[in-house]
Amino acid sequence: MTAFDVVDPATARVLRTVELASLEETDAAIDRARAAFPAWRDVAPGDRARLLRRFAEAVDGALEELAGLEVRNAGHTIANARWEAGNVRDVLHYYAAAPERLFGRQIPVPGGWDVTFREPLGVVGVIVPWNFPMPIAGWGFAPALAAGNTVVLKPAELTPLTALKLAELARAAGIPEDVFQVLPGAGPVVGRRFVTHPAVRKVVFTGSTRVGKEVMAGCAEQVKRVTLELGGKSANIVFADADLERAAATAPQGAFDNAGQDCCARSRILVQASVYDRFMELLEPAVRGVVVGDPGDEATAMGPLISAAHLAKVSSYVPDDAPVAFRGSAPGGPGYWFPPTVLAPVAPDAPVAVDEVFGPVVVVLPFEDEEDAVRLANHGEYGLSGSVWTRDVGRALRVSRGVEAGNLSVNSHSSVRYWTPFGGFKQSGLGRELGPDAPDAFTETKNVFIAH
Ligand code: NAD
Repeated sequence: MTAFDVVDPATARVLRTVELASLEETDAAIDRARAAFPAWRDVAPGDRARLLRRFAEAVDGALEELAGLEVRNAGHTIANARWEAGNVRDVLHYYAAAPERLFGRQIPVPGGWDVTFREPLGVVGVIVPWNFPMPIAGWGFAPALAAGNTVVLKPAELTPLTALKLAELARAAGIPEDVFQVLPGAGPVVGRRFVTHPAVRKVVFTGSTRVGKEVMAGCAEQVKRVTLELGGKSANIVFADADLERAAATAPQGAFDNAGQDCCARSRILVQASVYDRFMELLEPAVRGVVVGDPGDEATAMGPLISAAHLAKVSSYVPDDAPVAFRGSAPGGPGYWFPPTVLAPVAPDAPVAVDEVFGPVVVVLPFEDEEDAVRLANHGEYGLSGSVWTRDVGRALRVSRGVEAGNLSVNSHSSVRYWTPFGGFKQSGLGRELGPDAPDAFTETKNVFIAH
């Protein structure tokens, strides 16, 4: 075992030291998960549902503790962290309904009867990034467990604390220890082993497009099932006929929530040229008004970046001669702080306008008409989410259909709602999470024909 110092990004102080699992420990955990699978699969649907509901209630009971851990470990604002813990609870409740509804079909055929079954896969490996440690874990483990699989979950090296607590809560709720295991560890050791170990039958990966491609290539060796939730560079498209005041007032939240470390961040604001100047006038006070500071303070809207290395990466996109239109403020002193920053004018193919910066940096680009807006929005390799601001319902739908992204939001910046499917087009991912069909992605369809 190696030890890893978990750091509070708001103070740069070590919070706790966590042991990272070795390859041998990973193999042992996967073996236990494989051994636990048949009994978990055979738990009566109503009992599995009850255990998931109890797990949800345990999360609810520990909501403040979980939120507090995320404030310190990830620098999330307390309001966001409470929402995130509540999201795990709600996602567990939602998928607790699934065991009793994993319906197959009866299909009319000649010469007999035909029925389909939804069979669980076996062991599912869930690999989680550091930006939303709690919700992203829940979107994987809740439907996977509901469908009758056992789960091994690897949190990101930087943010293991809430996942470890969730494993404790699962056990306290009566979910057998080997059915849901959390293994803090290095990506190339534990995460990689989920990909190469033949007993792991599906990998759910959320993280960078670079590592996602490696995971997909590795899974191909065993034709292993894989879901990928990867990067984004989403557009917030503002038409001249929109409620400009609201569009400008909410644009900072769309771009800077979680300090911009959000795969759905609307980090490119596209504004119709005829209202560009007016929009910028309205945007400036909204950006300057973002309260950046102690994430534990209820009044804070934005906390720090996750690490010194990430701060250096984000800073590299805003060199001294960058075209900063205006920016907000950030605390000095220890911690990994970066102010909300608006760049304009920027060429549409400049690195900062196409790369996922994953920090509080947004570019504003003008467009002429609908066609131009869709063309700009579709520029680049990503296609995760986006927003459209207009009062014209026809245009809202035309543009939403035209943008190559998995999650569009009209006159709002909503992306992830657990009732609806979530995932990316192009290099933003493969497959969908959440929504009513998520448990199906953790099953194989089996067809059985019975002769007359
Ligand atoms: P990352 O790719 O560096 O790491 C993600 C996870 O993969 C971590 O747990 C890491 O330890 C693990 N990992 C690293 N190397 C591995 C390997 N060789 N094999 C298996 N696992 C390995 O990403 P990150 O920096 O933690 O997260 C930020 C990225 O995640 C951003 O690109 C962001 O857009 C993306 N993201 C996407 C979504 C989505 O739903 N589309 C959601 C959140 C974050």
